[in-house]
Amino acid sequence: MILILLGAPGTGKGTQAKRLAEKRGWVHVSTGDMLRENVANQTELGMQAKQYMDAGKLVPDELMIEMLLARIERPDVEAGLILDGFPRTLPQAVALDEALERAGKSVDAAVNIAASDEELVRRLSTRWMCRSCKSITNSKVEKCPMCGSDEMYQREDDQPDKVRTRLETMKPPADMLTHYRNAGKLREVDGMQSVERVTEDLLQALEGVRT
Ligand code: AMP
Repeated sequence: MILILLGAPGTGKGTQAKRLAEKRGWVHVSTGDMLRENVANQTELGMQAKQYMDAGKLVPDELMIEMLLARIERPDVEAGLILDGFPRTLPQAVALDEALERAGKSVDAAVNIAASDEELVRRLSTRWMCRSCKSITNSKVEKCPMCGSDEMYQREDDQPDKVRTRLETMKPPADMLTHYRNAGKLREVDGMQSVERVTEDLLQALEGVRT
């Protein structure tokens, strides 16, 4: 299974990818997490990407494509792959298709998780993340409710003044959605529901797709 989760920031892609990975044993690859790790380790890629990330902008396609294609060459993805945060542009989608085709594979489904702008602004400006297990909470807490670590923080790009610009920049672009629609791979799920309902709908949307 090669599944792409699409959606603006705050639609729950990361949370849903984690849940599906746990339920099905698929590998969750989040380009945002990979970039944040590179930033924390001060790699060359991290230093190049940081300025874009802090400004709520897209990191250039060349950097993203190189990083992602190297990641999906690793054998663990044979168990099944959930992509969270990639592709975000049409050139990224095309580069992914081409790389998969060279390996005799293809994307099975691209599921767009939809939610209103008002809801997304509310969710993003109030979310806090755990540095240790990467869980997300909807309010400021001292300890992570999932793993107990006291390393909760608000992402630089979730600060209220950055959220609206980031939403506009990070929404899945129409040409990329059309690309997956034309290939018969686009599915849509209502992201305004509870986390559990969205997972159910996602699993339902994947019925009939190779598992
Ligand atoms: P995320 O955790 O998915 O919201 O990603 C955090 C930030 O990393 C984004 O706001 C972008 O600056 C950058 N980023 C992650 N994935 C991509 C991508 N596929 N293309 C361009 N920039 C990306």
